Amino acid sequence: MGFCLLNNVAIAAAQALAQTSIGKVAIVDFDIHHGNGTEQIFLGDKRVLLISSFQHPLYPHCGTDPHAGFMPIPLGSGSSGKEFRAAWQDKGLPVLAGFCPDFVFFSAGFDGHRDDPLAGLNLVEDDYAWLTREVCRVADQTSQGRVVSMLEGGYDLAASGRSAAAHIKVLMNG
Ligand SMILES: [Zn+2]
Repeated sequence: MGFCLLNNVAIAAAQALAQTSIGKVAIVDFDIHHGNGTEQIFLGDKRVLLISSFQHPLYPHCGTDPHAGFMPIPLGSGSSGKEFRAAWQDKGLPVLAGFCPDFVFFSAGFDGHRDDPLAGLNLVEDDYAWLTREVCRVADQTSQGRVVSMLEGGYDLAASGRSAAAHIKVLMNG
């Protein structure tokens, strides 16, 4: 629908599932847009769990209905790290741990940063680092620490750069 031609994280997840040692994969999508392409691609595929936090209402104006394999975390415009962290703590992380994935992927979009011009969340670098740490903690327990992160949106280059650095720093330190 305009933001990509090839869904990198879906290709990566499908490739992981092609390995006999990988039975289930989870995709943690914190881009400010609902991961509608990823949801559609894996619809009905019990091997894939997508957890997507996103501003709602916002383009592509869908994705609020949870179903098997999909946990939406809609956030109102103006939400800050407090609401973001609480929602992931209450909804996203327990569902992720309960799914027991063999591999975890991030759809790492930084367009929810407060400096980003595209939409209206007020996240900062520390919020991305926090979620990265919490997800890696689950992955250490369920997935032998197998985590791959794919860059998604982010339209303020300085904020995206700082946020990506904070995210990668946590990934590197385990
Ligand atoms: Zn986005």
